[in-house]
Amino acid sequence: MAYKAVVAIAKEPGVDEMVERAFDLLGGAESLIRKGSTVVLKPNAGHLGKPGTSVNTGAELVGSVARAVRAAGAKRVIVAEAAAIGCDTMACLEDSGIAEAARQAGVDEIIDIKSDKDLLTIPIRDARSDLVSVKLPRFLIEAEHIINMPVFKSHASMVFSCALKNIKGVVQDKIHYDMHRTNLAMAMMDIWSVVRADLNIADLIWPAEGFGPHSPVPMDFGCVLASRDPVALDAVACHCVGLDMDRVSYFGNARERGIGCADIEDIEVRGRSIEEVYQKMWLPYLDGFDTWPEYEFHTENSCSSCQSLVAFTMEKLKALGEYGKNTDAVICLGAKDELPDVAKERLILCGNCLRKHRAKGVAVHGCPPSEPHVAWAIIDREDQTDIGPGFRERMHSEEEPWNRFIEGIVAQKRAER
Ligand code: SF4
Repeated sequence: MAYKAVVAIAKEPGVDEMVERAFDLLGGAESLIRKGSTVVLKPNAGHLGKPGTSVNTGAELVGSVARAVRAAGAKRVIVAEAAAIGCDTMACLEDSGIAEAARQAGVDEIIDIKSDKDLLTIPIRDARSDLVSVKLPRFLIEAEHIINMPVFKSHASMVFSCALKNIKGVVQDKIHYDMHRTNLAMAMMDIWSVVRADLNIADLIWPAEGFGPHSPVPMDFGCVLASRDPVALDAVACHCVGLDMDRVSYFGNARERGIGCADIEDIEVRGRSIEEVYQKMWLPYLDGFDTWPEYEFHTENSCSSCQSLVAFTMEKLKALGEYGKNTDAVICLGAKDELPDVAKERLILCGNCLRKHRAKGVAVHGCPPSEPHVAWAIIDREDQTDIGPGFRERMHSEEEPWNRFIEGIVAQKRAER
């Protein structure tokens, strides 16, 4: 019989039951976790986000998996993460509740990969991006098991984020920058080729639809998906939420790199069926920056932090009634040598990557810039440098129109289901 990737879909009343069921469907935790081993849990905790916001992997799920692997015989359990560029990992782990859930579950160590000093340089054989090697923490390389624990969420720069994308969070900022200066999707596959998580457990309990990661809308989906194969897991997740895989370029990159199985005919789904759990999700970033054809963007070399911020900003302009008034703006993000030749007041330069060009346009400082500053630069055509007087009042005044805008879309999307 031909090889089939296996993806488990668990839908049970409680998180512990779902974790237990997911392990059982894959053969049982004892068969997956070696006795006396070190297990690294890699959640998605890339941004600040309180429990219940679906910005990050659910804390309860992380705690539950930590307990399950300990019960299966793991000697040392570690939770490790490298948050997005510009984000403080430990602050994200604390804010999300993951750190507290890990402590409650008796996790031995919580590690900020970004500040780890004991790094090994791992060559990437047959690299398809410009990365030829990657520096990774020794503890990650030496661990017997890595369990990749993403949350499924709508994502501005990748359409959605789940298992394949989450492994990007094992590198420090320097490699992260380099990944954005090469073929990002292929760089992700190159990282996968050296950090092969042996199990992926995805949070589709409360996945996030909407304008993630800045303004996610939690969705009651109630499932945990698990697989040894991250590509198969992502493929099944896409089918569960009604996302056309042809709209997501990195499945093609995975295929080219020989990672995982993206063909649904070659995947054995265990537990619940896709049809049983199916719910169409609102994923608004299918067309990337073409979603806003009235504007001109120059995004080469930019990272997902600035891309997500600018994508969110375009929707915020709509909410504030400013979208149609500012279509002359030319928006640049990511390091560049050359800029478009337009008048200074039309050129919006987002982020510190463009600091050397600041005199040529409207400069938005920060890496990434503060959330409202890109919108204010576009509206006011004034440099945005720091959090000055009036910042909070203006932010506050924009909350109400934004909430109304989002509520309107959510109500419409839910009515369409
Ligand atoms: S300025 Fe923006 S694009 Fe540049 S590294 Fe920072 S977040 Fe990324």
